[in-house]
Amino acid sequence: MAGSAAVAEIGTGMRLIFLGPPGAGKGTQASLLLQRYGTVALASGDILREALRRGDPIGRQAHQYMESGALVPDEVITELLLQRLETLGKEQSFVLDGFPRTEAQARALDVWLARTGHKLIDRVVDFDISEEKIIRRLAGRRICGGCGASYHTENLPPRREGFCNRCGGELRMREDDRPETIRKRLAVYHKQTEPLLNFYRNQGKLRVVPGDLEIESQYEALLQLLKSEQMV
Ligand code: AMP
Repeated sequence: MAGSAAVAEIGTGMRLIFLGPPGAGKGTQASLLLQRYGTVALASGDILREALRRGDPIGRQAHQYMESGALVPDEVITELLLQRLETLGKEQSFVLDGFPRTEAQARALDVWLARTGHKLIDRVVDFDISEEKIIRRLAGRRICGGCGASYHTENLPPRREGFCNRCGGELRMREDDRPETIRKRLAVYHKQTEPLLNFYRNQGKLRVVPGDLEIESQYEALLQLLKSEQMV
């Protein structure tokens, strides 16, 4: 049957968390999984930026934290993410990109999944990358002011320089991708998010994929991992 391969692929269940510092390729890899497997990608940063573009009170409240590279308070982001998860079917495959970022968020997620009868997180993938490479990656990252799509001047250039392939919107640098803010975000990552590696290692769910590869090689490494775990 013509569509059976696609259906089989979408049917495979995987509930993943992508960990790793900003610039490790989490969002790009999540969107590749979405294209091939229909795995819904929920990126907490994108959700916050969308709320800001719409002028929602929550977006305005989050903005001051985001622009300085600090984390938005746990209660705010957790509620926002759980609201989104609630709209997914209980069997739906998903990737969480950028959430959880603290142990409190991780615990709240586990409790919520168990309480609402959703399947628990299957695997947590850490994209491991050097700081030097992160700074180079983030300096070239551009996002669309219209729809939020993400590009890179070298690794993922748009068809027409400066403009979005999807909606034609103007591309610009994220205000928090400037070097001073990147340093702050990395410090926040080490202090508040890195402890999650141990949290998930202790649950036996942590796996590592190199984060400093080109997009295609990184995707291959990710697929190999998911295959070895019988998820795809
Ligand atoms: P990102 O696009 O994932 O780099 O997120 C951009 C910014 O949004 C972060 O620097 C934080 O200010 C905020 N943010 C995103 N996800 C979270 C989260 N799980 N917890 C707290 N703040 C978050």
